Amino acid sequence: MKVLVIGLDGADPDFILKHKEDLPFISNMIDNGVFGKLRSTIPPLSATAWASLMTGKNPGKTGIIDFLHKGRVINSKNIKEPCIWDLLGLYKRKVGLVNIPLTYPPKRVNGFMITGMLTPSEEKEFTYPAEIKYELKNYKISESWRHYSDDKKFLKALYEITDIRIDNIKYLMNNKDWDFFMFVISETDSIQHFYLKPADHEKHKEGQEIILEYFKFLDKKLSEVADIDCNIFIMSDHGFGKVPLKRVNLNFWLNEKGLYSFSIEEKFKTRIKGKLVKIYTHPFMDKFRRYIPKKLLYKSKNLLQEERGDNIAFFTSSFLNTGFITINAKRKKKIISRVIRGLRNLHDPENKKRIIDEIYRREEIYSGRYIDDIPDIIFLFSELYYGDESSPTFIERVTHTKFLSGHRIDGIFIAHGPDIRKGYKIKNVEIIDLCPTILHMFGLPIPIDVDGKVLKEIFREDSKIIRKKIIYRDDYKKQLEKEMIRAKIKQLKMEKRI
Ligand SMILES: [Zn+2]
Repeated sequence: MKVLVIGLDGADPDFILKHKEDLPFISNMIDNGVFGKLRSTIPPLSATAWASLMTGKNPGKTGIIDFLHKGRVINSKNIKEPCIWDLLGLYKRKVGLVNIPLTYPPKRVNGFMITGMLTPSEEKEFTYPAEIKYELKNYKISESWRHYSDDKKFLKALYEITDIRIDNIKYLMNNKDWDFFMFVISETDSIQHFYLKPADHEKHKEGQEIILEYFKFLDKKLSEVADIDCNIFIMSDHGFGKVPLKRVNLNFWLNEKGLYSFSIEEKFKTRIKGKLVKIYTHPFMDKFRRYIPKKLLYKSKNLLQEERGDNIAFFTSSFLNTGFITINAKRKKKIISRVIRGLRNLHDPENKKRIIDEIYRREEIYSGRYIDDIPDIIFLFSELYYGDESSPTFIERVTHTKFLSGHRIDGIFIAHGPDIRKGYKIKNVEIIDLCPTILHMFGLPIPIDVDGKVLKEIFREDSKIIRKKIIYRDDYKKQLEKEMIRAKIKQLKMEKRI
């Protein structure tokens, strides 16, 4: 049995369903397979979501809740839990991995790996084994939407990269031995970040057309790689389409409650920074933006370790969706309850709308050794709002929304193939379910501490998989270590160093 996973970064279920007729390949997968929404991680950030997908574990276990860890950009070394390909490799299944975020620096796998998002450049070692890069043709890892001001050039680059990526994937799929193949298309996320505009923006319609054209092109490209008779998953790490109108700085709200006080320096910085960001995002800056170091404005903040002096409570946020409040107090529980009650009743003074959709104590949604690094209260802003701790007022309308479109928490889940049911709609799929489901399909044991579930309802009645018992194991880490030592010795012998 073979399994192919196609990751489309940021593909949104509402978008896909709305344009089903323009996307014949994806439509066919949906109509003759299983379709549903896929709930991402909180926060629905690409790094956090992909880390949970590859391990089947919540961010309290992966430790990946932000792009930064202790002020540094994260990489594959930050993921201390075994990934699905490590487990498949342990049981001698061959894997092929292309462009999966957070896989740089590349690690030894039983097969090959071309690293993805967060790879510094093609000049670095970005493949395992190293030699495989000589088989790739014109390969390019990514193109950041942040580097471009000229729309046309950026668009051209996106098409080119997708084209080259798929050609290389086709080559690898046809010429290498694999049981599990997974690749990710990142351009689906970049194009939406760049072209998705608010409804009242002059380029709103044009942007939507550009995005749809790209998806049509991609749909065709995907039909070229995935015409094989194997079980296929198409999934995204989160959805897309949030275009907030107002930003909220809850430190003002906490300040009113006597739980937070602004330092003089912070007040000053917030004001200046607020003004600079407004200038930076103004359309007349389009031509010059690339010359300004973004560090000046978007200083790498650290969600988890931020120093907030003696404040009892403070608010931080994660790109457009998620808000966090950390409580520093002896009678923590009482304050947490008080703050949560307050958040539940928080409304926009202008229109009385709710600002926040979902609120959690961290223990409700996370578990694992990194849980203490996560702030005490976590919440999701509703569609029209986002959190920004550098905003100079409690709540304000944002005027220049060039960069303000972003992720939604629900991504897509599609399954199709010889073992998969036809025309079935599934509910309650979470991003952490993919890893245990795939291990089970191969008849392999699932690590006992995986948080996801096996999606049994996707399988056909007459499929062998449905009769297989789900097996859990707790000694897999020891096995993986042994396997690693064995491989290291083998390598040293080959290099004649021992
Ligand atoms: Zn993403």
